[in-house]
Amino acid sequence: MARPIRHLPVIQRWDCHQCGNCCTDYWVPVTPEERRRIEAQGWSQLPEFQGIPLFVPYGPWWRRKWRLNQRHGDRCIFLDENGLCRIHAKFGPEAKPFACRLYPYVLVPVGNHYRVSLRFACPSATANKGRPLLDQEDELKAYANGFERWHREMNPKAQALAEDQLLPIGQGDWLPWSDIFIFAEELLRILQMPTLPLVGRWLRILSIARVCWEARFDKVRGSRLREFLQLVCDAAESESAALTQRLGPPSWVGRVLFRNFLAICLRKDQGVRRGLASENRIRLLWAMWRMLRGRGKLPPLQKGLPEVTFADLEKPLPPLPPAAWDLLERYYLVKLRSLQFFGPAFMDYPLLIGLEMLALTLPMILWLARGYLERGSLAAVEKAVQVIDENFVYSPFLASFRQRLALRILASRQETEKLILWYARSSNVVPA
Ligand code: SF4
Repeated sequence: MARPIRHLPVIQRWDCHQCGNCCTDYWVPVTPEERRRIEAQGWSQLPEFQGIPLFVPYGPWWRRKWRLNQRHGDRCIFLDENGLCRIHAKFGPEAKPFACRLYPYVLVPVGNHYRVSLRFACPSATANKGRPLLDQEDELKAYANGFERWHREMNPKAQALAEDQLLPIGQGDWLPWSDIFIFAEELLRILQMPTLPLVGRWLRILSIARVCWEARFDKVRGSRLREFLQLVCDAAESESAALTQRLGPPSWVGRVLFRNFLAICLRKDQGVRRGLASENRIRLLWAMWRMLRGRGKLPPLQKGLPEVTFADLEKPLPPLPPAAWDLLERYYLVKLRSLQFFGPAFMDYPLLIGLEMLALTLPMILWLARGYLERGSLAAVEKAVQVIDENFVYSPFLASFRQRLALRILASRQETEKLILWYARSSNVVPA
């Protein structure tokens, strides 16, 4: 039986508004059963599909998979001239590949249930447009029922996720889901503190994370873990308030590592917004080097990036409207509540490393939003969230040990806190 869905992000709304972004941004993987089903729909008989395969292989020959074909500059082969899906129009939504139906939802297997996250690369998710997620529970249940089968067919060699799995914390200890939930509750409680601005909440969360990096949890479980976190939270209250006075700007180490993660999150190698990856490798490597140096113009790692210099992106941010902070708060609540930021949903990242990466997205978003300000402050933050979230958790470049080490270095030097304070500066934020 499929895992049930729990902990829906009730603050989030979504409905597809048919902008067509996802049909032109990604490869759509299909299982052998989906290939057979779509082939049986008779598309190859139509004149517009003559001589064009519906599916193309990808991946190494020993792990060959299939995806929907594309045409006209990376548009899905089934998109019509109005940007709508022909399979959906002719046979209904159930006839589409599972990956298309699920997007932008993300089902996160958490112990004995799923939690729901969203990909904020979808403009409707970022703008919170559509029905509340609570009203979509039945659809989500149906996705949960189909997800495990689809996942097995896509990855026949992958092991089923055990409900009683132990999860790495980051400093050598492993905890069961029941203890992870205690952590998550505490982080969520802080992230929802109405008396603190978002920046202050993140500083407090990171203060707790710093103590947890040094702690051992082999004997601190269950109610003792709760008590421990309570004590650490109390200490973090004064520590995070002092941070704003004590911490200076990020060091060169922090800035280089920050731009390394920006390069990973800005780089787009698929879809109509593909950047330098569609040209030659030398130009791409040169652009990555320029990102690390952080001088001159921002390289076009994807289409649609602002045409600005790195110096422009260092200027203070004008005050952001409350709606922009609300969007950021909603974004982090969805990511934290769903536990999408570590473990099985994020390349088996340990909890503290994944939390560091999630925290780092805040200065990344505020950095990039500076480049889009001519759209207006709220639209600038929306666009920055869409761009940064697209690769967060998904970029294959985040899988390496080197990137985990880079996050550990950022944590040990409190560079993430410095980056948050630096890129939030001059906004209407009183940090702590
Ligand atoms: S990006 Fe979002 S709104 Fe646009 S077509 Fe895809 S699911 Fe619909």
